[in-house]
Amino acid sequence: MARIPIDLVKGNIKKEEPISNLIVGIDLGTTNSLVAYIKDNQPVAIKDEQGKHTLVPSVIHFDENHDATVGTNAKAYLVKDPQNTIFSVKRLMGKAFKDLGEYQDFFSYKIIDTEVEETLVKIRIGNKFYTPIELSAKILSQLKERAENALNQPVQKAVITVPAYFNDAQRQATRDAGKLAGLDVLRIVNEPTAASLAYGIGQDKEMVKTVAVYDLGGGTFDISILNIDHGIFEVLATNGDTFLGGDDLDKAILEHWKTVYNIDAAQLKENQSLNQALRIAAETAKKALSSSNDFQTQVEAWTLELDRSTFEQLIHPLVQKTLAACAAALKDADLDKSAIDEVIMVGGSTRVPYVKEQVRTFFEKESINDDLNPDEVVALGAAVQADILAGNQKDILLLDITPLSLGIETMGGLMDVIIPRNTKVPIKAGRQYTTSVDGQKNLKVSVYQGERDLVADNRLLGSFVLRGIPPMPAGLPKIEIHFLLNADGILKVRAKELRSGVEQTVEVRSPYGISEEDMARMLLDSLKNAKTDMQSRALIEARTEADHLLLATSKFLQQNDAIMSDEEKTQVSKLAEALKEASQGEDKDLINTCMDELNDYARPIAHRSMDNTISNAMQGKKV
Ligand code: AMP
Repeated sequence: MARIPIDLVKGNIKKEEPISNLIVGIDLGTTNSLVAYIKDNQPVAIKDEQGKHTLVPSVIHFDENHDATVGTNAKAYLVKDPQNTIFSVKRLMGKAFKDLGEYQDFFSYKIIDTEVEETLVKIRIGNKFYTPIELSAKILSQLKERAENALNQPVQKAVITVPAYFNDAQRQATRDAGKLAGLDVLRIVNEPTAASLAYGIGQDKEMVKTVAVYDLGGGTFDISILNIDHGIFEVLATNGDTFLGGDDLDKAILEHWKTVYNIDAAQLKENQSLNQALRIAAETAKKALSSSNDFQTQVEAWTLELDRSTFEQLIHPLVQKTLAACAAALKDADLDKSAIDEVIMVGGSTRVPYVKEQVRTFFEKESINDDLNPDEVVALGAAVQADILAGNQKDILLLDITPLSLGIETMGGLMDVIIPRNTKVPIKAGRQYTTSVDGQKNLKVSVYQGERDLVADNRLLGSFVLRGIPPMPAGLPKIEIHFLLNADGILKVRAKELRSGVEQTVEVRSPYGISEEDMARMLLDSLKNAKTDMQSRALIEARTEADHLLLATSKFLQQNDAIMSDEEKTQVSKLAEALKEASQGEDKDLINTCMDELNDYARPIAHRSMDNTISNAMQGKKV
């Protein structure tokens, strides 16, 4: 197979002049994000302009003109203007509305509920719609800008970390956010892997170790068990709780004070500023008790007190919950505690001495890795990974990797990446698709290579038709598209309808039969056009979704004719007509608004129709 000379400094095909020697490491966090780089062989997190803080709160506020503020300045709006202030966007990356389940109420901003199941979530701010990718890109842009200001040079390459449990869609969404922020994302690295690297674990090529990474942040808890063998990191098991973190420790304190000082719940509900003041006092108490034994503060008429041992009693059940997750992860990895060589502490909440002590005792260790700043350790490790990519290999390394992403064409001419660029070969990867038309018998599979959002801008490697799919309603067939890229650079693509077993395998043109110049140009074009590409994608996706919804609406009108009033029928038709018209235009926000309105109007009717069906079924039953 052709070996492609990759310039790891620039992350692309070898070119004469490196533009910049810099690759930053980014921790794109749920609560806070930060950027780090290697300075004099040491990873350091980059501070704000005042030289004070390294953390950028992962919060975005939109004003009435849709101008965004990111970070500390946006945080104040969480209370003042909750509908227009986005937090925890990481929880939405690569997710559909149905994935949010019971946690929909957690968000104070509007997340669009759609009837089209696989559609990824969008967030509505006024009459504009944003994807989690666009929102994450705003945070990444802020970090990029911070690094550029601090280092006084352009920053174009980055390594970004994600939780070990992130799936392909979530990883791809993170890559896309990077691209949109003008960053060439050289690698997506697991957070626990980065944390290990920050402690120098895994850098030694001879090392074989099993590591537990305990990550207790502001709102989430993750435990990951990793095996590190000669520089290769393997995630053996992950466990955790997506709604357990420092915020819950604060809440435990708040509840305690409410009881002790007779603070009335009803009073708190009405008085949001008192509520807020108490919440802040609780967090201050928690932080203070990490270094002292007693805490006292004044909030309005109350003198609030807390000592360390009471605090420890309060948080005991929460800490136990994290340890139960550790035990579950060990069980999944089929390991005994004694098999763990190192325990690494990550996340601001691991500053709590009781947490450290309990974790150390649980893993039966003399000591744990907690010397580095637990808020920074993931970003520091990402910078170490970036440095390995940049420096270790003296600029040029011959690597068997995919030089450009490989994917297939989906609805509206969009590129759906199946193997991202820079993936090591050999590699197998696949994804499931379905049909869009009732009774569809054939499916055309077109395989492309490139980084652009529209296949028209990428390189066609080949296409074929999967024939003989048994007639089924649209959306029912399960068609798996599977790519196998072997070490000789041969790409085999298999399409298989899983319900019927109909399948076809085709060998397409080699992804390596392309000149270095063309490859470099394709990479550059993708960064230059990231914004317009994303806009085109958003418009095509909105139109495709609108088509689905219009089809569903006409079926809905037929099926529910009997239970709908004339007024309802007229209104649904009117809203559908407006959507149809919008989807012929170029304004994706208008299309989304029309869909949102149609969905909102039809939802209660759909519920009524469902209740009806159930009660009819019940009547038919003899109980
Ligand atoms: P992260 O999501 O990793 O940034 O974690 C932030 C969490 O760490 C918040 O819940 C903070 O209240 C908590 N935290 C920060 N500093 C301390 C401290 N000194 N002691 C205890 N918790 C802290």
